[in-house]
Amino acid sequence: MSPMTPARVTGTPGRTRVLVVGGGITGVAAAHRLRERLGPDAEIIIAEQSMRLGGKIRTVEFAGRPVETGAESLLAARPEAIGLARDVGLGDAIVHPAALKPALSLGGELVDFPAGHMMGIPGDPADVAAIANAKERPDNGMAILEPGADMSVGALVRERLGDEVLDRLVAPMLAGVYAGDVDRLSVRAVMPQLAAALERHARLTEAVAEIKRPSTGKPVFATIDGGLDRLVTATSAASRAEIRLGMTVRELRQTPEGWEVIAGPVPDPIKITADALVIAVPASPAADLLRSVEPQAAAALSGVAYASVALAAFAFDKVELPQRSGFLTPASEGKTVKAATFASQKWPRLGRRRQIVRVSMGRLGEEALLQYDDATLAKTALRELGEHLGQRLPEPVEQRVDRWGGALPQYAPGHLTRVAAAREALASHRRIAIAGAAVDGVGIAACVASGQAAAEDIAEQIIADSK
Ligand SMILES: Cc1cc2nc3c(=O)[nH]c(=O)nc-3n(C[C@H](O)[C@H](O)[C@H](O)COP(=O)(O)OP(=O)(O)OC[C@H]3O[C@@H](n4cnc5c(N)ncnc54)[C@H](O)[C@@H]3O)c2cc1C
Repeated sequence: MSPMTPARVTGTPGRTRVLVVGGGITGVAAAHRLRERLGPDAEIIIAEQSMRLGGKIRTVEFAGRPVETGAESLLAARPEAIGLARDVGLGDAIVHPAALKPALSLGGELVDFPAGHMMGIPGDPADVAAIANAKERPDNGMAILEPGADMSVGALVRERLGDEVLDRLVAPMLAGVYAGDVDRLSVRAVMPQLAAALERHARLTEAVAEIKRPSTGKPVFATIDGGLDRLVTATSAASRAEIRLGMTVRELRQTPEGWEVIAGPVPDPIKITADALVIAVPASPAADLLRSVEPQAAAALSGVAYASVALAAFAFDKVELPQRSGFLTPASEGKTVKAATFASQKWPRLGRRRQIVRVSMGRLGEEALLQYDDATLAKTALRELGEHLGQRLPEPVEQRVDRWGGALPQYAPGHLTRVAAAREALASHRRIAIAGAAVDGVGIAACVASGQAAAEDIAEQIIADSK
């Protein structure tokens, strides 16, 4: 066979075969749900470009402990990720953070992050008066958002509550999740519940007050003892999918029977046939794959920008840290460090023998940061950490730097409409679904939900066709 003639991987006759492209949490959650819906005989393959599953979830041993280099917590207030952990046998390993609050680093001091807000937007200006002067603009009696309309978080908050609330509270909160630019993040996509309330209210504070739930006392976040990697591994094991690592999917073709994909290294490609596809990769590779299939869907995805971040982790033998879970800091403070987590204080599972601190750097547009070598990034992170804490820090006993290029998708105003249009366009092609952080939400819980929904969609079509 010539090197350019793809080897073929074809399914067993009579058995349904689904190919999941991308082995991040979305892909493994999709494979797991496909197994539940399609039963033991279905062939489920996960094709993953890198040599490991997990994507933005990666646990490593650091200072003798399992420490996250990417995502560190699950939103426990949503059921999907926690539910998946229980379903795959990790119910006993679900642990919650210590009851410590994060701080805001302002002018070289750590101050309490005020309570009574939604992503930094207060339900009552008095709640945040210690940090920001929130003067609510008189309203015109009209609902802030019309049904279906969208706007940026920056425009919404600046116009109604002023720059200080936006810069000191909302932007640092959103930077922690999206590393993004508030003027380019969609209210509908990043705060869907608030967007719905804005259709009923003329005042922003009233909309926030309406949806702010009283604390249930239940922990909002969780993780898996031993590391989030365990969630990925247990989910992929429970899916009994065939895992193909180092398998970049490069081309999709629709055939009368289903799909044919070209995957693997360019000089040694293989052709995989499948009855259905779940595309669970970031926006840019998803757009590349969909371009020849459905250009409209590809165009919607190729417009999703990504922010890159770098994380430095330090282990200290002896250091006095404030009794907090960490801090956030506004961009206006002019620092490279945008947030820090006092990981060993926040997560008692990490033990107290050594203090572990994770420092995150990088906002949208600061990609050049990733070009610095590890030593420079670590030095900057350590110096700034000391400045934020108001102390000269001792030499860490261990340190590491992790870079995540193209880490976090930025949902611009209109994102949800564009994703809905992409899905509508794709619906004319049978048995293909898109899922993951590129489209349905950045958090792990949202990714699990997205992967599961894509699997449900595909399973419904396969089951309906078999009747
Ligand atoms: C530093 C950092 C911290 C975070 N912290 C949190 C947190 O604390 N809590 C939280 O809920 N979320 C957090 N997130 C967000 C969350 O981790 C991600 O949004 C989520 O894990 C994305 O999952 P995914 O499966 O959709 O995509 P990914 O994890 O990006 O997985 C996609 C996979 O597709 C593969 N791939 C790409 N192209 C191809 C191709 N052509 N063929 C085959 N495979 C391909 C990639 O190699 C990758 O493994 C964080 C993210 C980062 C970067």
